Amino acid sequence: MEITEVTRECDICGCDKNTLISKKPSWTKTSVIKYKNKLYHSTDVMCNNCGVIYKNPMMSRESMRDFYQDAYMQLYEPFNVTSISGVSIALRAVTAIYCLDWLDSIGYDITEKKVFEVGCGFGTLLMAMRSLGAEVAGVEPGKRSSEIGEKVFGFKATVNSFEEFNISHLYDLVIINNTLEHFYSPTEALKKARTMLSPHGKILVEVPSMLYPYPGIPIDGFLSSAHNFTFSKESFEWLAYKCGLKIDYMAYKGHKKCMFFLLSEYKHSETVQLTIPPTKENINKLLNQYQEVNTFIDDISDQVKFTQKMKEEGYLGIAKEYPNHTNVLGISYVNWLLAQNKPKESLDFLNSPAGVWKDNQSEDVDMHPGTLTYLRGLTYRHLGDFLQAKKCFEEAMLQYPHFYKYNFLSDMVINGLIPENIFGTSSWYNCAKTLEMM
Ligand SMILES: [Zn+2]
Repeated sequence: MEITEVTRECDICGCDKNTLISKKPSWTKTSVIKYKNKLYHSTDVMCNNCGVIYKNPMMSRESMRDFYQDAYMQLYEPFNVTSISGVSIALRAVTAIYCLDWLDSIGYDITEKKVFEVGCGFGTLLMAMRSLGAEVAGVEPGKRSSEIGEKVFGFKATVNSFEEFNISHLYDLVIINNTLEHFYSPTEALKKARTMLSPHGKILVEVPSMLYPYPGIPIDGFLSSAHNFTFSKESFEWLAYKCGLKIDYMAYKGHKKCMFFLLSEYKHSETVQLTIPPTKENINKLLNQYQEVNTFIDDISDQVKFTQKMKEEGYLGIAKEYPNHTNVLGISYVNWLLAQNKPKESLDFLNSPAGVWKDNQSEDVDMHPGTLTYLRGLTYRHLGDFLQAKKCFEEAMLQYPHFYKYNFLSDMVINGLIPENIFGTSSWYNCAKTLEMM
């Protein structure tokens, strides 16, 4: 079957006016899909009305169905039921913990809830929720993912696209976790998810935020070819409202600072206030904000050269030259100083403005505010101040996602699904082990 593409108006608001954001990406791994011996260069536009970023043209609905049945996994996650590694399983478990942590922080108790996940992958999040007492089910279009889930967890997902899936039960919680951005029509998907809700049921959505691209990845790489839509909080709110849903809770608390939304149905008697009326001024504000966040990424596109310069000339001077340097560079600089046995310089850096965590960029397990606090603790330990060191390690453990709270992760280690040593390089793991020894 030939791949077909279609030119579209905005799925969220119906507007046909848009602004070009990124075209013909050069980032070969994540942005250009080589599929059926043809390269697909994606073009991203921003809707002039609601501000959502989307592919235009976009792969047609039929081509997309074909693509997700098998090719997606071959391109982005090239493993199968026999070659799946502990690292790949662990990565999903870590992502699931961000989700459990957030639900816990807003007081949502998963115990005895009936949960359904749209695009459940291996079923890692569902298995984590089952371990906390939830009753779980899910649909997954990828045959290989569901085979892996069955082998690894004994979890059987329904293999089908969500569009074609027949709803037979109602659920307390429907999850669409890093999946909505892949749909041909997020509007249709979210409306369908709404019909699956039991009275007082909720929808949990996790989507990448357009305001927190990953440092060091150019914009065309961040706007991955497989992401048909990239939302801001405002454009997502527009989508939710259109689907008869309101936002009960929202936070940039997902893995890599993805956005979490907990949604519920609104009654017609309720007034829902959109925070961003669709005016040109507001769209321009979003565009400017986006450009601002991305400026530092262009500055440090050659990270290797930058890191070398930093080591030769010292960090503080360089940091002045690049005020928006990334957290990952600061972290690697402190690691380097400690390896050179220069704890005094490390403390000076951490106490300077350049050593402060920058909140305008994405984060990850090892590029996390907790990592900087952990490194501060290591610095104090090098200096012989064990009391301060211990304080820092304890503070860091509170900042990291609460990996140690959930038995399912340690159970996975015990059951041999995840080798313990893959966490050996993770700063949160080292931090916990160091604390145990103190
Ligand atoms: Zn729109």
